[in-house]
Amino acid sequence: MNKSNNNWIRPEIQQLTAYHVPEPSDAIKLDAMENPYQWDTARVEEWLNVLRGSALNRYPDPAAREVKEQLRTVMQIPDNMDIILGNGSDELIQMLALTLNGEGRILLAPEPSFVMYRLIAQVVGMQYIGVPLQADNFTLDMFAMLEAIETYQPALVFLAYPNNPSGNAFDAFDIEAIIETAPGLVVIDEAYAPFTDDTFMPRLSEYPNLLVMRTVSKLGLAGLRLGLLAGSHTWLEQIEKTRLPYNINVLTQLSAVFALQQYSVLEKQTQQIRADRENLLENLNAIKGVQTWTSQTNFILFRVAKAQSVFDELKNQGVLIKCLHGSHPMLDNCLRVTVGRPEENQAFLQALTQIV
Ligand code: PMP
Repeated sequence: MNKSNNNWIRPEIQQLTAYHVPEPSDAIKLDAMENPYQWDTARVEEWLNVLRGSALNRYPDPAAREVKEQLRTVMQIPDNMDIILGNGSDELIQMLALTLNGEGRILLAPEPSFVMYRLIAQVVGMQYIGVPLQADNFTLDMFAMLEAIETYQPALVFLAYPNNPSGNAFDAFDIEAIIETAPGLVVIDEAYAPFTDDTFMPRLSEYPNLLVMRTVSKLGLAGLRLGLLAGSHTWLEQIEKTRLPYNINVLTQLSAVFALQQYSVLEKQTQQIRADRENLLENLNAIKGVQTWTSQTNFILFRVAKAQSVFDELKNQGVLIKCLHGSHPMLDNCLRVTVGRPEENQAFLQALTQIV
């Protein structure tokens, strides 16, 4: 009997390419939609004092009550809606797929969008259907979308709002039509909520098949790994069954409560990032040979003549962004830059101008 792993690993796992993250380096890091600002020394001291009181020998509060309370306040989650927390919203996508998976069940999302929707569908063995966005401006192709929903009757639809990697927020009327047409659950992924005024959070009770997902990652707390799903008790009590016990660890719980008490500091930073985004866009538009798309997030998608070599050259010069060339036909020669601190944006612009 051959006991080598190739005989036992599921074929669909063998065919997958693992989610790639570059090695840490000293580069100016503008690749992962992180908030570039760290806390000042006084705030770090206060935070460490909070951590000192933690009991690492004990399991965390399984329901993470305090974290949920804080999140409900700062993210204005309606009182009549439940909350489930995930170890990042990635874990929530996985919990959703595990809950709705089954014989012939389909997960559908527009494309290009956040790659984890497809990756997680494949991991749990759910069929994935990607519906192309409009090629020129990445808006929803409503004809294709509604037709695909009618044809495939998806159990689960993900809409990143605003979308990653295009940066735009889909039309709210289009989203309403999708929620109304979809036979199953529609999850609006509002990871980039800190950088836009558009949200479906206050509208949760209008639709029985709608959930809203958020994360604290883009707000400035990516290291904590904390995401949330908000929606009706009917849905969430079922999804909750796929959550591993104690998925939000003691340090994350304490740190999140502390950080969210200082929400105004994080909000000030995200406001700054929003303003810097417009500045960065204007400067990118001024570079000949660069095509941009407007953004409601903390990153900008742009196209150059030779994306891979521009990416490599930027990296050589110590600026790390994301190369999307080859990831989807619509992203031919596209790059994505996260809005950093003003001096980082400046260094990126300077290097890019020189390269192109
Ligand atoms: N949704 C979207 C649209 C994203 O772009 C990302 C991360 N890039 C996530 C979810 C995952 O975020 P988290 O850090 O909470 O896992």
